[in-house]
Amino acid sequence: MPNSELPIVPAAPAATDLVPPTRWLTLDRLQGLIDLLWAREYRVIGPQIRSGAIVYDELRHQDELPKGWTEEQSAGKYRLRQRQDDQRFGYNLGPHSWKQYLFPSRIVVGTAQRDDRGWRFDDPPQETPAYAFLGVRACELAAIAVQDRTMIHDQYADPIYAERRQRALIIAVNCSQAANTCFCTSMDTGPRCRSGFDLALTELETGFTVEIGSPRGAEIAETLSLREARQAESDSADERCARAVAQISKRLDTTDIRDLLLDNLEHPRWNDVAQRCLSCTNCTLVCPTCFCCSVSEASDLQGDRVERLRQWDSCFNSEISYMNGDLVRRDIRSRYRQWLTHKLATWHDQFDSSGCVGCGRCITWCPVGIDLTEEVAAIREDQP
Ligand code: SF4
Ligand code: SF4
Repeated sequence: MPNSELPIVPAAPAATDLVPPTRWLTLDRLQGLIDLLWAREYRVIGPQIRSGAIVYDELRHQDELPKGWTEEQSAGKYRLRQRQDDQRFGYNLGPHSWKQYLFPSRIVVGTAQRDDRGWRFDDPPQETPAYAFLGVRACELAAIAVQDRTMIHDQYADPIYAERRQRALIIAVNCSQAANTCFCTSMDTGPRCRSGFDLALTELETGFTVEIGSPRGAEIAETLSLREARQAESDSADERCARAVAQISKRLDTTDIRDLLLDNLEHPRWNDVAQRCLSCTNCTLVCPTCFCCSVSEASDLQGDRVERLRQWDSCFNSEISYMNGDLVRRDIRSRYRQWLTHKLATWHDQFDSSGCVGCGRCITWCPVGIDLTEEVAAIREDQP
């Protein structure tokens, strides 16, 4: 579809351009916000505990939030841990990202049906839910902006993503702590939400400060008759955000990173990482910006109906590099190198930005604990 026919995603203005004062949502009115969103026919998605992890799923009641839980993360490790308080958003990030709602992992994009007159080809009607995402972190706002750039504002746009994105309401929640794997400060994406949200909350003991980021957000705040936040409440919110900044210890030096990687395509570190990498694809599946997908067709047993299915793929799968009768990236060395150089180097050439937002998921969920910041540092250390 030409870009001109795609719905325009309203870009939320930068927070600095906004006049609305910060508001205050008391804890006992959080359910009122969730109820209002459902009444407006949004499908509310929020963090919940499933199978020992905090994931995103349909959320009807604030009791479903991971109240009193946090997580411990490090390379190849993730564990839930009980907090000493009742914070509902006192964790950082789980394995899920909002990508799974805006860019579904499996979707039928075409059908062919045979009848007496021959084959009929159709684009199946797509379900386009109006999602309300509750609990979006600053790095995740940045990841959504990266996917907007690749899937809406590029030469080849994806109408399925564009429709879902245009309808989505985003309620961000600032981080008041950081995981060992976070490096958003290196990527200038967090931990404080600056733009791209409709509302941005900061959780305190008795409620939330609420920053307004769009006319839709302002209208929700008006409907809930939220009073202005007091200075002490805003100051406490600032302190919590500052605490998260202070906790971030992981760094990625991005100085000339594009040239550093592309000038070192034959560096021995690629052999070293290839010895450890399992080519399992985990890092690409949890990454909120990865967008590789493949298209396949399957028929029913009679051969009368065929569905064309689009599903997530990964540059760690050898088949994705099949070209002109052969595989371009046969070994793990070339596949890991492709992933890292695309994220941090050639993404700049293609999309004028980094493909990494510093969320750290690929570090936590790599079964052998490969840490991209260490891989880059090893190459950098070796430079004359
Ligand atoms: S490459 Fe890793 S740290 Fe960067 S955005 Fe993807 S999952 Fe997050
Ligand atoms: S870097 Fe880790 S998560 Fe990614 S493919 Fe290799 S082993 Fe799997």
